[in-house]
Amino acid sequence: MPAALAPSARSILDTAWGDASAFLQQWRQWLAEPERPRMLHYVALVLPSAGGKPLAGDDPQSHALREALRQAFGDDLPGAGHYRICLQDGLLQLTLCIGPPETTLQALRMQADRVLLGAMPNPSAAVWALIGRVCKSGAVLERDLRSAEDAPEPPPAPWRPISPDSWTYAPPWALRRSRQQSRTVWAQPQRCTVIGAGLCGAATAQALALRGWQVQVLEAGAQPGAGASGVPAGLVSPQPSLDDAPQSLWTSRGAALMRQLVAARLVEGRDWQPSGASALQPGAHAIGPYAQWDPQAFWMRPAAWIAACLAGAGISLRCGARVAQIVQREGLWCMLDGEGAVLAESELVVLCNAGDGARLLRAPALGCTPALQALAARLQGRHGSVSLGPVAGLPGLPGHPVHGAGHFLPALPGADGLCWMAGAGFAVRPATDPAAEHADNIARVGRILPELAEGLRAQAQANLLQLWQGERCTSPDRLPLIGAVAAAPAAGLWVHLAMGSRGLSVAALGAAWLAACIMGEPWPMEARLARFVDAQRLERKLPHAVTAAT
Ligand SMILES: Cc1cc2nc3c(=O)[nH]c(=O)nc-3n(C[C@H](O)[C@H](O)[C@H](O)COP(=O)(O)OP(=O)(O)OC[C@H]3O[C@@H](n4cnc5c(N)ncnc54)[C@H](O)[C@@H]3O)c2cc1C
Repeated sequence: MPAALAPSARSILDTAWGDASAFLQQWRQWLAEPERPRMLHYVALVLPSAGGKPLAGDDPQSHALREALRQAFGDDLPGAGHYRICLQDGLLQLTLCIGPPETTLQALRMQADRVLLGAMPNPSAAVWALIGRVCKSGAVLERDLRSAEDAPEPPPAPWRPISPDSWTYAPPWALRRSRQQSRTVWAQPQRCTVIGAGLCGAATAQALALRGWQVQVLEAGAQPGAGASGVPAGLVSPQPSLDDAPQSLWTSRGAALMRQLVAARLVEGRDWQPSGASALQPGAHAIGPYAQWDPQAFWMRPAAWIAACLAGAGISLRCGARVAQIVQREGLWCMLDGEGAVLAESELVVLCNAGDGARLLRAPALGCTPALQALAARLQGRHGSVSLGPVAGLPGLPGHPVHGAGHFLPALPGADGLCWMAGAGFAVRPATDPAAEHADNIARVGRILPELAEGLRAQAQANLLQLWQGERCTSPDRLPLIGAVAAAPAAGLWVHLAMGSRGLSVAALGAAWLAACIMGEPWPMEARLARFVDAQRLERKLPHAVTAAT
C-alpha cells in the first residue's frame, strides 16, 4: 500500500491477554512493517485472575511493557476497569480491559479492524454479539491455535470463513453509521487550534500532534501555564471514595496514565517524584497511623510536563495571543484577537481555556448545544493558594506527601535547597491578604499534621514563606467537560474544560478520550466513565461521542 493510503491507525481486539505474548508479537510485526499505520491500538480483555501471570521475554518490547505496567499500577494489575498504557512514544496504545469478558465488552467502545481469538472458554452467543458490536464491517478474526486444547470453536454467522483459522465480519445488515464513519470524519489530520496552554491545552495538543495534526496553541499569558496550571507543584493521586464514585474512578484511571507519561518524559527527583502519599482524615492522626497509603501517588511540576508536551513535533505555541472570539469563514474556524485580527485558522479547534471557555461558547455562531450551554453557564472559578517555605531546620516533617485537608508536600527540590509546599483553599473570591492566606494554609496542615504547624507558623512570622495563588475552573458536579460543542462533531469544535482540583491527575486521560472521539479510535476508559465527563452529559443520550459522530 502506498504511504499516502496507509491507514492512520489500526485497531486490534485481543480476547485473551494471557501472558501478553500475542501482544508482543503484534507489536514486533507492526514495527517491522515498512508501510505501517502511524498508530497501533491494541485492546486486550484481561481476566482479573491474569494479574499474577509473569510477562515473558527479555527483549526491548517486554522490558518496555513491564516498566509501563509497573509505573501505571505498581506490582499488581488493578481491579476491574479499562486502563490505557502508552508505549513506543505513544504510537502504540494498549488498552487493558480488566474484568469478565461480558462486562468489559459491554463497556468497550472501538471499531476493531482485527480480532485475535485467544485461548478462552467458548464464547457464548451473547459474547459473540458483543464482539461483533465493536468490529468494523470486514474486520478479520484470527483464531490463536498456540494452545490447541483451549482454542475456541469457530465463530458463528455473520462471521464468514476466509481460511481454516480466519473469518471476516460480514453482517447482512448495515452497521450503524457511527461504527464506520467516526474515523472518516477526520480521516486526514489537518490543522488544529488549541486555545489555552495549561495542562489541558498541552495534553490535547500533544495527543493530536501524535496523530498527525498540525497544532497551533494560542495562549493569552506571557508563557504556558499562565492559569491554574502555574501551581509550582501538585499531587497526583486518585480521589478516594467508599462507593466507586465517578470522581474516584476517573481520577484513578487518569492517575495511572499520568504516571506513565510523567515517568517517560520528566526528570525524576527534579520534575516529579514517585513519593507515594498518605490520605488522612482531619483529626485521624490522634487515633492511629496514616489512614490510607497510596504507593502510586506522586508529586510533579506541571510546568515541566506542559513544556515536555508542547515540545512535541507538529506543535507551535504562540503566547500573548488572547482569543477574543471565534468565527467561521469559508469552512474554517478563525480565532480573532480583540482588534479582530486573525490569530489562527484551522479545521479543528479545541477550547482548553478553562473558565474563559464559557464566554467563547456563548457566541451563537458556534452552534453550542443547549446541554453544553447549560453546563458552561454554571462553571465557577474557585480560588486557592499554596505556601512554600524552606525545609532546613524544620522539625516533624513527614517522609512523604500527606493530603486530607488540602495537601502537604514535604520536599520539593529548588534553587535554594529543599522546600515544603502546602495548600490549597477553595474560595469564591481571591485572597487579598497574603499573611491570612499563609495562616489558612498552615491551619489546614495543622488539621492533619499538628506537630508540624508550629514550625510553619514560626517561618511565616519570620517572613520566610512564598505564596502562589490561582483559580481553578470547576463544573457543578466537579467533573470535567470534554467533547464536541455542537451536535455534529464534523463541525470541528470541541472542549476540554473544568479540571477542578484534579487537573494533574486527569488532563492526559481527558485528552486521550478527546483524541479517540475525534479520530474514531478505541476509548481509553469504560463508556460509563466517559458518560460522566461528556460535555453533552445533560442530554442523557449517551454514549455521545459515538452517536454524535455519525
Ligand atoms: C492552588 C491550587 C493547587 C492545586 N493543586 C493541585 C494538585 O495538587 N493536584 C491536581 O491534580 N490539581 C491541582 N490543582 C488544579 C489544577 O491546577 C487544575 O485542575 C489545572 O491546572 C487546570 O488546567 P487547565 O489547563 O484546565 O486550566 P488552566 O491552567 O487555567 O489553563 C487555561 C489557560 O488558558 C489560557 N486562556 C484563557 N483564556 C484564553 C483565551 N481567550 N485565549 C487564549 N488563552 C486563554 C490561560 O491563560 C491559561 O493558561 C490546583 C489548583 C490550584 C489553584
